Amino acid sequence: MIFLMPTLFISHGSPMLALEEEPTTRFLRSLSAQLPRPKAIVIASAHWETGDPMITGSANPETIHDFSSFPKELYQLRYPVPGDPALAEHIQLLLTKAGFKAGIDPTRGLDHGAWNPLLLMYPAANIPVIELSVQPERDAQWHYQIGQALSPLREEEVLVIGTGNLTHNLREAFRGHHVQTPSWVSVFARWVADKVEKNDTESLLNWKHLAPHARENHPTPEHFLPLFVALGAAENVSQVKRLNVEMAMGVLAMDVYAFGKIGNDKFYHSGKKISP
Ligand code: ZN
Repeated sequence: MIFLMPTLFISHGSPMLALEEEPTTRFLRSLSAQLPRPKAIVIASAHWETGDPMITGSANPETIHDFSSFPKELYQLRYPVPGDPALAEHIQLLLTKAGFKAGIDPTRGLDHGAWNPLLLMYPAANIPVIELSVQPERDAQWHYQIGQALSPLREEEVLVIGTGNLTHNLREAFRGHHVQTPSWVSVFARWVADKVEKNDTESLLNWKHLAPHARENHPTPEHFLPLFVALGAAENVSQVKRLNVEMAMGVLAMDVYAFGKIGNDKFYHSGKKISP
């Protein structure tokens, strides 16, 4: 039997995630124990935007503090993980074969979309990480096809992750008046859950036109596009789990999706009933 790694979409929230004790912090700390141990991680981050797909090629990617006006402790955090230049070339080849003009950036490090959740999931920082960029000028289909091109990596025990946010209206988040989650957020999150759980890829790929309140939740698409990389890499996987149904700053849905076989449900749901 061929062993296949699951793929993940992770909502990474604020850079403070790594310092604060929030439900998502605890969830991410517990997540890796429920996954097969990967040989390497490839993570497509909303915080690296390029015209064509780019791959980190550094053997020692630096920790990029790509944010401002946060507490000093956050700038002192490092995630000293190794890269994997040979795997970077392998990924470039997979993408090139699929028709993408993919490049390797030999100096670029990991932004907080990648290192923040990984620091919680794999604090020992001993699993090589490669970051992949997103193309906000391109659509969901494009990112789904990037995922499909990466699909063979699952057989090679490489964990493919997309890191963004299920909803991401920062203007509303910083206004800070949302005591209760507004319906334009929860309705969108439920729509995504419904389509994902029904394996309705076609509707998901048309999310901009079909999902309720798509534009309000994603004034720009870069935080949603990593979902399609994870979805594409998991092609033909029928097992899907919606995890960590939490809300940050009133309007940032922190959903995590796992495509493929993972550990026991109770653990993931952190005592909460999960329903679409
Ligand atoms: Zn982000």
